[in-house]
Parts: sequence; C-alpha cells; structure tokens
Amino acid sequence: NPSKSKYHPIKDACWSKGEPVPYLALAKTLDLIEGTSARLKIIEILSNFYRSVMVLTSEDLLPCIYLCLNQLAPAYHSLELGIAETYLMKAIGQCTGRTLAQVKSAVQKCGDMGRVAEQARAAQKTMFAAPKLQIRKVFAALKEIAHMTGQASVNKKINKIQSLYVACRDCEARFLIRSLEGKLRIGLAEQSVLHALALAVATTPPGPNLQLDAAQHMSADKFKALVEQHVAVVRRTYCECPDWAELLHELLRGGVAALASRCSMRVGVPLRPMLAHPTRAVRDVLARFENEEFTCEYKYDGERAQIHVPAAPDDKPDFANAAIFSRNQENNTAKYPDVLSRLPTLLKEGVSSCVLDCEAVAFDAANGKLLPFQVLSSRKRACASAEDVRVPVCVFVFDLLYLNGAPLVGSTLAHRRKLLREHFCTQPGTWQFATSKDCSTIEEVQLFLEEAVKESCEGLMVKMLTGDNSKYDIARRSHNWLKLKKDYLEGVGDTVDAVIIGAYRGKGKRAGVYGGFLVACYDPESEQFQSLCKLGTGFSDEDLQILSDMLKEHIIDSPRNYYNYDSSHSADVWTSAAVVVEVRCADLSLSPAHRAAIARLHPHKGVSLRFPRFVRVREDKAAEQATTAAQVAQLYLAQDQIKNQVKQPDAAH
Ligand code: ATP
Repeated sequence: NPSKSKYHPIKDACWSKGEPVPYLALAKTLDLIEGTSARLKIIEILSNFYRSVMVLTSEDLLPCIYLCLNQLAPAYHSLELGIAETYLMKAIGQCTGRTLAQVKSAVQKCGDMGRVAEQARAAQKTMFAAPKLQIRKVFAALKEIAHMTGQASVNKKINKIQSLYVACRDCEARFLIRSLEGKLRIGLAEQSVLHALALAVATTPPGPNLQLDAAQHMSADKFKALVEQHVAVVRRTYCECPDWAELLHELLRGGVAALASRCSMRVGVPLRPMLAHPTRAVRDVLARFENEEFTCEYKYDGERAQIHVPAAPDDKPDFANAAIFSRNQENNTAKYPDVLSRLPTLLKEGVSSCVLDCEAVAFDAANGKLLPFQVLSSRKRACASAEDVRVPVCVFVFDLLYLNGAPLVGSTLAHRRKLLREHFCTQPGTWQFATSKDCSTIEEVQLFLEEAVKESCEGLMVKMLTGDNSKYDIARRSHNWLKLKKDYLEGVGDTVDAVIIGAYRGKGKRAGVYGGFLVACYDPESEQFQSLCKLGTGFSDEDLQILSDMLKEHIIDSPRNYYNYDSSHSADVWTSAAVVVEVRCADLSLSPAHRAAIARLHPHKGVSLRFPRFVRVREDKAAEQATTAAQVAQLYLAQDQIKNQVKQPDAAH
C-alpha cells in the first residue's frame, strides 16, 4: 500500500530528540528525491523527513520547509539572496584552490554548479573537521546573506558562503550551492511540499496526543480519504494565509483541525487572488452561465492591487499601516504613496478594517482617459512620496474580501458588492468601482464588451453573482470568473506568458541588441522550462533595447539542465529564466522541434506558437507564474479546428 509507510520517525532519523536537525538530514532527503521520479514516492520521502522533524525537533520544521521551497520568508517580505553566479564560483574556487576559470569551465561542462561544488569539496582534504552544519544555522546564514546590502556586502557575502561551504560533508555542498543559486533542481514545487506536509500530519498527527503512525490503525481507503482531506485543508489555509510561520505554529499546536479555525485570512497578509479562465467567444459565456445570475465588469488594463487597511486599537482605520500587494503577494506599498495618501477618502464612517481587490490603472487626468498598462509599467517601483509620482493612477475596486474584522470570501459576490457600495466612496479619476452590468443575453454581453473596449479596457470579466459558486475562490483559476478579451474575439488567438531562456544576436538593423528570443512555458510537475517558440516579431526598436538591457544580468554560460529544447534552437546566448513576456499568436500547433506540453498531447511532439508576436514584458510575473504546460495543452485543445478534428472520428462511427 503506497500511502502507508514503514518509516519510523524516531528510529530511522539520524539525530535524536531535541537536537538541532543536521543539515545532512535534509541534504540526504533531497538527494533521495533527486533520484526518484514518481511524484507520490517523492512526497512520501519528504513527508517522512517532516515527520521526524515534527517528532524530534519541531522548531526546525519552518527552516526545513523554507529550504525545500528555496525561500527565506513570505513573498511579501521581498527577501532575496541576490548572489551572482560568478561570486558563487569564486567562493567555490577560493575554498578548493581552483581558479575562477577552472570552476567556470567545470560548471559549463557539467551544467550544474551544485555537483561541481560537491566534487570539488570531496576532493579536498581539510586538517580539522569544521563543526557539522545544522539546518537552523544554514537557514539563518542564508537570511543574513540576503540582508547584507551596500558596497562592501559582496565580500561579506562571499566570506559567509565560504564558511558554510568548507563545513559541507557528503552531498551537502550540492544542495547548499543550489540553494544559493535559487534553484534546487529536484522537481519539488510548492504543491509537493504542501502535499508532503499534509501526509506527514495525517500519519503523525501533532498536538497534545501525538501518535507516531496513525495510518497503522486505519484501512487503506480511510487513510487515503484522510490524507485527501488534510491536503485540502493545508492548501486552503496556505492560500488564505500564505505565511508558513503562522501555519506551522497552529498546525503543531492543534493539528489540522486547528488550521481552519485559527489560521484564516488576516489584514496584512496578502491572500492569493482568485484568477479567471479565458473564454474564446461570447457564446461560451452563456454556455457556462446559462440559467445563473451573472455579472459583467470592465476588465481594466492595469496592475492588480490588493489593498489592506488594518484597524487601530481605537477601532478606527490605521492608515499608517495600510499596505498594497501585487498579484504575486509582493509588497507594492512603496510604489503607491499617492494611493495610500488618499485612502481616507475611500472609506466611509464606520469602516475600521478592510481588504479590497482592485486594479490600479494609469490615468490621464487632463483628458479623463485610461492609459494602457505600458504607461503604468513606467512607474517607479518605489516613490518617496505622493508628490514624487509621475504616472497617476485611478484605482478600480472590484471586490471586498474583508470588512471590520470579518472575512467575506465565503459570501456571495452579490453580498460583497452590496457591502462595497454601502461602505466605500468613489471619486472620478481616483477611486471608482469597476463598471458593471448584470447581463442575461448574448447581445447584452456583446454590446457591453464593445463599450468596454471603447473605454480602453481589455475586455470583460464575467462573474457568477449569486449562489455558492459566486464565493471568492482564493488562489483558484475559477470557471466562476471568465475573462473575455477583445483579442480573443478578433481571432488572433490567446496570449501566452512565456519565459525567455535564450537570445539570438540581432543582425542588420538590429545589430548591437538581441533580435530574437527562445521562449518557454513552465511545467511545475517536472519543474522544466519547455521551449515554445522563437520570438522575433512585434518588437519596436525600443522594446529590443529594453529587453537586451534587462537580460544583461541574467546571462549564463550554458543552458540549465531543466531547460527542455531541441538543439536546432540553440540560442546564441543563454539566460536564466527570469524575464516573462506576453506573446500573441495566430494559433498553436504540434511541433517536433518544440517541447511545450511534451507527452501531454503526443508522445514525442510538443506544442509551439504559430506567428508569435511580442506584446509586452510581464514585470509582474515570476518565471514560475508563466503559462504552464498544462495550460498550453488546454489552449491547443480549445482551438476550434482541433475540437472539430477530435469530433470527426465520433461522427464517422
Ligand atoms: P492570470 O492572472 O489569469 O494568470 P493575467 O495576469 O495575464 O492572467 P489576465 O488574464 O489579464 O491576467 O486577467 C486577470 C487580471 O485582470 C486580474 O488579475 C486583474 O489584475 C485584472 N482585472 C482587471 N479588471 C478586473 C475585474 N473587473 N475583475 C477582476 N480582475 C480584473
């Protein structure tokens, strides 16, 4: 029975109760995972490690989770290591008596700096063994490195890295260096970590009545159902309150049962936003929402802004501690001092705390017109004060998720909207509610869409208005929100957010900058970036200059071993997966030379974009948030010509 494990969390651990967890225990676990391809097995290995940590040294669970995720803190703390590859190679070289050129060439040959570091460390004899590394100390050192800033920080960072590296045993160096590089390369995405943790607490429930192996007393079916339920609770809690410290604290104290009651959304912690499904035609909207009450809202072309206003002790809103978060839970407060300064004009008397889901859109006040996203993207990431702001914005509020101490995510959209309109003010050009219309026929939707486009919007968001399906689906790409973009209707196809993994030098007029790029989708299951197409059109000269400048700091010596591409598309210059671009295409086709969604639709062929055109840089998206392989496969299958092809064999029978 694969869901039950023979692992004993005390006897099979390599450390004893109360001892700090050795870093080697984590490194060995990751090594085991690296040699395993079955996802369920990977989850079992990781969950057994977590069980040992929970039972023996539970305070180390937080650093263990963060190290598995290659993170140092919640996304909204914006804490990053920021170490250039060259510095890492320098550190490896200096500790092992090699030149930078030797390390560079070894990395180029092997394609994995972690392995090179491990081999170099193993080949080196040291006179005195350094103290054994502990997980908590390694994690604290990484955080210290991330906090080092300023001129002299480079040398300090290198020194710190060296002190960790010389103490590495066995496979520790491989994972230490990969952590410092920001990529563990073992196919361990956030979903696997959540799943492993849920399995761990189902098997070894924490809390006052600790049991080492609850599964032994359950039938396989019952245990499976229990694990599924735990996975759902842990995932939902994490999406609502993406703060591992908080989640683990409650989990270890009161078990899974405590999560739902004690660890819910709170002001100050950005929740993962609800996302929408694309629709290709107005008639698809009706097919989904027929006989339901739904509403259409303008889809504004700006940047998502989740605005949090906490309550002060006197139960008045505490504007000084209000915060604005991006779609990816980054803290954007410093970017919008103008929005913060006018927050008091938004809240009516009686509102003490709230969380609002909004879109900030660049606004031309002189002409009262909305401006495209490109204008907003020229706004500085941090402005000292409202006066410092060069690109004014109008904020369109479209949802209310929390009001006066009570989460509203479980209420219907109709109720949330009613409260929004009752408790908040609007002011043209600064605060507005998203323009909406509760439609019921195709004609109405079509007309409203045309109006939205005329008003410089991207299209419509169509949302379920009443009933259970209109609750706010945290973190879900939900079928209860559909996006209807004008582009889909013009027949030019969907846009895809793709990651640049390589670049081709420009020729002729484009000499001196990159003239084309190899772009990829992301497959979270294999953690691969899979090539999607060569992108060489749709750019202005300025776009190419900007992209070439942006890529400068991301150039790497050789392609990563998690890039999946055909050698016929080898780039002139390889880049780390960092820059995401939105790409429009005529359609999607199966391709023997591209690897997007490989093996999902055809055993050897991937999907590629036909006639791809650059639309814009997606600065708000990290590489892992690019369009996924599964989405690419879905987009391919959703094409009319493919749907018809699939239907034909049936018709013949
Ligand atoms: P996704 O977020 O779906 O991966 P994306 O970031 O490319 O894709 P879109 O596909 O353009 O975003 O659509 C969703 C986004 O539209 C939301 O994240 C939000 O920022 C924006 N938006 C604009 N107007 C609205 C609205 N009325 N309701 C909800 N979202 C809106």
